[in-house]
Formats: sequence, structure tokens, C-alpha cells
Amino acid sequence: MTQEHKGAAAGGKAGAGGKAGAGGTAGVGGTADVAGTAGAGGTAVDGGAPDDSMAAGGGAPGDGRTPGGPIWAQAIGRLAVARRLLVALDFDGTLAPLVEDPTKSRPVPAASAALERLSRIDRVQLALVSGRPAADLAQLARPPESTILIGSHGAERGRLSGGLAVLEPLVISPARAQRLGQISKALQELAATAAGAGAWVEAKPFAAVFHTRPMTDRARARELEAQAAKLGKALGGHLMPGKMVVEVSVLPVGKASALARLRRAADADRMVFAGDDTTDELALRTIHPPDLGLKVGPGPTTAELRLPDPAAVADFLADLATALESGGPRTPEAR
Ligand SMILES: [Mg+2]
Repeated sequence: MTQEHKGAAAGGKAGAGGKAGAGGTAGVGGTADVAGTAGAGGTAVDGGAPDDSMAAGGGAPGDGRTPGGPIWAQAIGRLAVARRLLVALDFDGTLAPLVEDPTKSRPVPAASAALERLSRIDRVQLALVSGRPAADLAQLARPPESTILIGSHGAERGRLSGGLAVLEPLVISPARAQRLGQISKALQELAATAAGAGAWVEAKPFAAVFHTRPMTDRARARELEAQAAKLGKALGGHLMPGKMVVEVSVLPVGKASALARLRRAADADRMVFAGDDTTDELALRTIHPPDLGLKVGPGPTTAELRLPDPAAVADFLADLATALESGGPRTPEAR
């Protein structure tokens, strides 16, 4: 019992599940037990929030969506046969727990370890796809060198070299630069009206971001978020609302189109994308089997699998690495 529970919680037993999945026979006798134990052990997959948006996002205890369960193993098995696999991941809230100060965000160590393993597999292309500037991603996430960095919701694209982000040049037009200046000024003035309450504005290369996470008065925070959105829209910005943030970009970007571009560029025949926020959900809606969408944390989703937190994402990536490392059948070469 203890052993079963340990296996389920750590995803250790799921390594065996992943292997079974790679062979195309997920859901072997043992994995169901693991799923049941994991469910009884904490129902973590639910993320604590009821979700009636789609059965696939539910994750009720014992339904196989729990870490290490048959559906988890089946999903890994489907990815493990890829001729070329794109592993694209959001950063904050997905690989790193959410924190008040965005400069303090760090991936959970197990996630970094899993990324290192995945980076050593030839047929895997890693990518971080985040709303953050790509330079921040390089500095905070410290992913393996071969990782592609997609920053600012798709506006920036680059690679790592010597731990630094080397970005493809992207020129912002004078008109957009002027608009960004106006938007930043308006949002800063709005934040100043709540001086001391915790609202603040982050400057990004193509966007200004209104943050309310430090505010304790949530009703006032929501009021300010609504005002920030209204101002941003009135000044011609593209809105990307998130958790306690309103991002106003001067470029029409999004993770869905960024992922589609990445998948083509990587010549991938399978893709997995994991994300936790509203902006990720727009991308998750565009992902269908054999690709896999992973929703992290609570909230409505159309994703096939839900994982409770970055630690579970790390477990999933480790199991995926195990299945890929063990070889097994592959999809045929394209054309
Ligand atoms: Mg996130």
C-alpha cells in the first residue's frame, strides 16, 4: 500500500505505465491500482476546483487521469512513438510555482532535471512559450541550451547561447512604439491611483502589463483590472488578460499561432503543450490528438489532461523522458 502510494505520488510507478503506453497497451492491470491509490491519496489532479467545462478536464479520483493513471500513461505512449516530438511549455505556473515577485520565479528542480533529460533525446525539440520577455526566460528558467525561447506571447523568438537569449531581430514600427508609450503612461497613472495598494506596471518589449497580485483588496483589484483593460483597448492595444494581470500588447500575438509555427519549424509529428493561464487556454483549444494539451491547475479547460501543479508537470516530463529513452516503435518517416 505504502509502496503503491509512493509510486503514484512520485510518478515512479508511472514509468512502468509510460513504458506500457509506448508499446500501445496503456492501462495494464497495475496502472489502474496506481491511479486508484493516487486518487485516494489526495485527489490532486482536480486542482481543487470543480470543472464542468469538459469531461476530459475533470480528473475525478480513480478515473485514470490522476498522475500515473492509465490516461496519463496512454498520453505518454502516444507521444513516445513520435518520429519528432515538440515539447512546448509555459513557464510561470507550469514549470515554476506562481510567486508575487516575477523576478523570483524559478522552475521546480525536478522540472529542470526532466528538461535536461529530454534535451539529450535527438528526436525531441524543447521550447518555452511564455508571456515573459525571452531574455527573462533564459535567465529565470535556465533551460537546456537547445531550447527554443518564445517570449512575449509569440512576439519574440530566440535560442539560448551560453545561457543568454539570442533573439531573432524584430523591429517595432515608430507608430507602435508611440502607442506603447501612451499605453504604458496610462497604465502607470492608473497604478498611481492605487499607490501603496500594490498595483504596478511591468514594461515589456512590446507590451505594458498591469499587475494586481500584491493587492489584498480583491474587489478593488478587479475594478482596476477592468479599468486597465478599458484604457488599453481605447489606446489601440491587444488585450491578454491573465491571473491578476492585464497585458496590453501593441502586437497581435498569441500562443496558438506561436505553437503552430513552432510545430512546423520543428517538423514535429507530435506535440505536447502545457500551460496554466487564460492565454494558454486559447492555445490549448487548438490542440487535438495525436498532440496533447495539458492544463496545469484549476479552472475551465478543453485540455485532454489536467495536472495539479508544476511538480506534477515535472513528473509527467520525467515519465515522458523515460518512455522516449526506452525507444520502441516510431511513426513512419514523413513522405
Ligand atoms: Mg503561466
